[in-house]
Amino acid sequence: MTIALELISLTKHYGAQIAVDRLDLQIPQGSLYALLGPNGAGKTTTLRMVAGLLQPDGGDAFILGQSIARQPKAAKRLIAYLPDEPLLYGKLRPLEYLEFVAGLWGIRPAQAAADAKELLQKLNLWDVRGEFCETFSRGMKQKLTLAGAFVHRPKLIILDEPLTGLDAAAARLVKDMLADYVRQGNTVILTTHIMEIAERMAERIGIINHGKLIAEGTLDELRVRSGEEGGNLETVFLELTEDADRDRERDFAV
Ligand code: ATP
Repeated sequence: MTIALELISLTKHYGAQIAVDRLDLQIPQGSLYALLGPNGAGKTTTLRMVAGLLQPDGGDAFILGQSIARQPKAAKRLIAYLPDEPLLYGKLRPLEYLEFVAGLWGIRPAQAAADAKELLQKLNLWDVRGEFCETFSRGMKQKLTLAGAFVHRPKLIILDEPLTGLDAAAARLVKDMLADYVRQGNTVILTTHIMEIAERMAERIGIINHGKLIAEGTLDELRVRSGEEGGNLETVFLELTEDADRDRERDFAV
């Protein structure tokens, strides 16, 4: 089995507070992986370190074997990272934006134009290709930044809350696009607070709490682990995080 992303003892502090605490994790290639956790658990901090946007205090992240600390250029070519807030240039139109992104990756203009057209058509943005991004709704901006993530054909796409704010039709489009991309052998890692999304889309799920991985596996494995064998992911998630909080309080008390 090829590992798309491996975290080894990844650690980050903000001042005296530990946000990510010696995190170890392996995510197999060709799968959709959901990273869950309560607010403030350390998900975004972890993903920003994987994307090379934040320097870890310890440990490392390997993208298909390339270290983000030691081979950052090679590692970054293999991934696309989408933050939870869509970042666009307001004075660019969708085609211009995608061609600009393609230019940053050194993709030939003819190829870039053809890919941009296909992506905009797939995401129902072709009809607004001539309008400035600043006029777009949040959902339209989200779809366009997602299109931008596909431009350099990364092997691993990391998405922070990709479906929040999308209407039902847009969410379906994005889910289908991600599923196709995984079927082609690529890997998607996403965070979400919407348990139904993780339950329906993810092959494996990791749960982070207070910067530590408290449980990891398929939904069935997590059910067994939580003792909620017939439970849905919401029940399993709440049970596992509450257990971890109780253990933590006990550790602090002694
Ligand atoms: P959410 O689900 O709410 O988005 P999260 O799991 O993504 O949360 P992080 O954003 O990684 O969590 O935050 C982890 C911890 O680090 C939190 O306690 C947060 O307050 C803290 N933190 C995050 N960014 C900073 C920062 N720039 N400066 C100081 N503390 C930070």
